[in-house]
Amino acid sequence: MELPDREVCYRAFQSRDARFDGLLFVGVTSTGIYCRPICPARSPKFENCRFFGSAAAAQEAGFRPCLRCRPETAPDLASWRGTSNTVSRALALIADGALDGDRHSVETLAERLGVGGRQLRRLFMQHLGASPIAVAQTRRVLFAKQLIHETQMPMAEVALASGFGSVRRFNEIFRSLFRRPPSALRRKTSTGRTGDEASVTLRLRYRPPYDWDSMLSYLQARAIPGVEVVENGSYWRTVEVDGFVGSVEVTHLPQRQSLGVTIRFPQVRSLPAIVSRVRRVFDVGADIETISAHLSRDPLLAPLVAQRPGLRAPGGWSGFELAVRAILGQQVSVAAARRLAEQLVALHGKPASQSHGSHPGLSHVFPTAECLALKDLSGLGMPGARRAALKALAEASAADPHLFRPFGTIEEAIARLRTIRGIGEWTAQYIALRALRETDAFPASDLGLLRGAAAIHGARPTPAGLLNRAEPWRPWRAYAAQHLWAAGGAVISTTRSAHE
Ligand SMILES: [Zn+2]
Repeated sequence: MELPDREVCYRAFQSRDARFDGLLFVGVTSTGIYCRPICPARSPKFENCRFFGSAAAAQEAGFRPCLRCRPETAPDLASWRGTSNTVSRALALIADGALDGDRHSVETLAERLGVGGRQLRRLFMQHLGASPIAVAQTRRVLFAKQLIHETQMPMAEVALASGFGSVRRFNEIFRSLFRRPPSALRRKTSTGRTGDEASVTLRLRYRPPYDWDSMLSYLQARAIPGVEVVENGSYWRTVEVDGFVGSVEVTHLPQRQSLGVTIRFPQVRSLPAIVSRVRRVFDVGADIETISAHLSRDPLLAPLVAQRPGLRAPGGWSGFELAVRAILGQQVSVAAARRLAEQLVALHGKPASQSHGSHPGLSHVFPTAECLALKDLSGLGMPGARRAALKALAEASAADPHLFRPFGTIEEAIARLRTIRGIGEWTAQYIALRALRETDAFPASDLGLLRGAAAIHGARPTPAGLLNRAEPWRPWRAYAAQHLWAAGGAVISTTRSAHE
């Protein structure tokens, strides 16, 4: 892992430089504690400092998280994305619980990614300075610590919600790390459960800048009535995980450089999966400074980046839902696609009971693949070929629950998606960008992209010409695409190219 030299790291800590927050951690050998650059505690001596690029690396080296600067609240950045896709895919799977519980092993994880276990461990050491097991363990500890600190959730629930197999294991690990029982870490003033017993509120920190307005208007233009609501600067939606139904509410907390997330859900075990979906939709982990610096080197993109410095690439809530939306959006406007999605949900979505405190506009959950695979879709107002494509998608997704999980290389993922009837190159690239969170996906034949390129370049390029032009934007072409869409007035245009 490439860290700046020790002098530079030390200066970042001495000056409490927030630009390094989430990218750099210091372990202090005299105390055994690791900190964020912004820690208010007095700076340690230079010779007592060890520097790390991830919390997991500091923890694997035997340091425990500082109780003052709380490493669990540092932005969780994917700055290695673009350098190793295997690592970023593995991290996405770990965040979804791929290494939680006894039955899950690094070998199984590696197999899903198409590499050997040894190779995966080597890549983790190279990019994160920690093993996959240590990364998973650190995630559990830090998430548990955040729940202890920010909510009033009972300790037994915290243990389950953060992926510990048992309360005993949770207690053991916390005692060995913090030298006190988990309950001793709770502040009396935690207010994460205010009056509403069934909800949990957490903060997800991002690395600024964050263009919240663009994110929200993107979501608003596509919000499916009954499933999603955008109102008063906040976003609500219904959630279904493993047959259970709840809701999330997301707001912006600009002073805290965070998103505030309130989750109402009957199963605490599902919290990490729900949080990781929120992170994906809102692109919380983007290292936007690195991405902007790279894209700004191109004179074509530099003015766009300057105009919208915190623009994120929104993700899909679930791979299946996103793929359905992509098919509904083929050759029609965003508004028409939204009406079709509304129809689909009204016909086949499961009604969601009004859970206490969530938005009254939420009435349904988005239909599952299993449900749509069995349903007659003839009631949908769209051409028969596209209904057939929807059916094929639902059947493929019901048969393979990992269809929209990270898999192999981007080319392999695209090729696999294209084997589904009705999914061509544009749709596959679009799914890779939004659902698989491929930072380098680029649907070059998209009319909105071509229009955006025309708006800044004068003449509209051909898809092949644009693809060629986009070569220097690697490995961040998905963000370049987002800027081009924005430049082309883009919220209107995810219609696919005519030839697909
Ligand atoms: Zn600290």
